[in-house]
Amino acid sequence: MSTTAPDPATRFWSPALRGLSAYTPGEQPQGTGWVKLNTNECPYPPSPLALQRMAEAADERLRLYPDPTALALRQTIAAQHGLRPEQVFVGNGSDEVLAHAFMGLLRHGQPVLVPDISYSFYPVYCALYGVPCQPVPLDEHFRVRVADYLQPNSGIVLPNPNAPTGIALPLEDIRWLLARNTGSVLVVDEAYVDFGAESAASLVDEFPHLLVVQTLSKSRGLAGLRVGFALGHVDLIQALTTVKDSFNSYPLDRVALAGAQAALEDEAHTASLTRRIVDSREWLARELTALGFECLPSRANFLLVRHPRHSAPRLQQDLRDRKILVRHFKQPRIAEHLRITVGSQPECEALVAALRELIDPVRHRDSKVTPA
Ligand SMILES: *Cc1c(COP(=O)(O)O)cnc(C)c1O
Repeated sequence: MSTTAPDPATRFWSPALRGLSAYTPGEQPQGTGWVKLNTNECPYPPSPLALQRMAEAADERLRLYPDPTALALRQTIAAQHGLRPEQVFVGNGSDEVLAHAFMGLLRHGQPVLVPDISYSFYPVYCALYGVPCQPVPLDEHFRVRVADYLQPNSGIVLPNPNAPTGIALPLEDIRWLLARNTGSVLVVDEAYVDFGAESAASLVDEFPHLLVVQTLSKSRGLAGLRVGFALGHVDLIQALTTVKDSFNSYPLDRVALAGAQAALEDEAHTASLTRRIVDSREWLARELTALGFECLPSRANFLLVRHPRHSAPRLQQDLRDRKILVRHFKQPRIAEHLRITVGSQPECEALVAALRELIDPVRHRDSKVTPA
């Protein structure tokens, strides 16, 4: 057997997969002892009520399919946003909801507009579904300028706050864009909105071309459950439902439906999680600034930072050697940045201690020998 010949069975691949570079998820390390600040997970456990409801749901009823319409969960979400259940779609993580939106709402021959520095899954959905993707540059301060999106398009996708910058857009900017771009759908991906940005959910009744997408993965500490949802005009929700029912009628299992509903009902728990993370984010931004890092102003559960004198890939590797994981993107404009998830306060302190050693080893050693 030759060791150099390509696997001939790749000839069975659909043409759509040739040249497609898929999304690369952040590392999920094996074993224990890691400080995981690389995938924007919540460092704190989910709602105890959600855990209890999931345990109760895991019984003999699992032989039955779940409700394909997820009506009870959609009613809960609708009530929380002053909407009707017909204006709510739920999916297996917001990634799936977004994929269905690209498939069902954003394919009209023109490019889909996304910020040049943004969630790297958007160009992958475009490639998978054969939609041209047009990156729109952020300004020199890494901000979205909504006026730049007034150009021919099949749809616009804006994360708010943006990832991986963490910078949030005011609701007035979203409204301004909706009022001017009326011929295509604006998807606002609010994966991080609970950490201090303004949700566009309040605009759903006003603009039939707005789709707001949220997730339970970040602010509810349920990345492992895979639940996301969309809010929008009944006709937009119907498009997502049609894609879903042409793909997988049961994206949410019985356990996920029960857990998601309880997690959303436990608003006090969500408030406590987000308060702690926002406090740690502000602490971490101050500490990193004191170490000479430039930190973009984040309204999310992560910071995008760069150090003028230390290479980002080098720092990432040196942190990894100390069992601390942060994310580096090999991408123009942010190749010298690191995206650091805000962990628990002790995790943030461990990161700062490690960086202090890496950034200034001499002073660190001196300060141990002769404390100031
Ligand atoms: C994490 C993230 C998502 C995906 O969330 P899931 O609900 O876990 O699939 C979507 N959009 C952005 C911008 C994210 O960072």
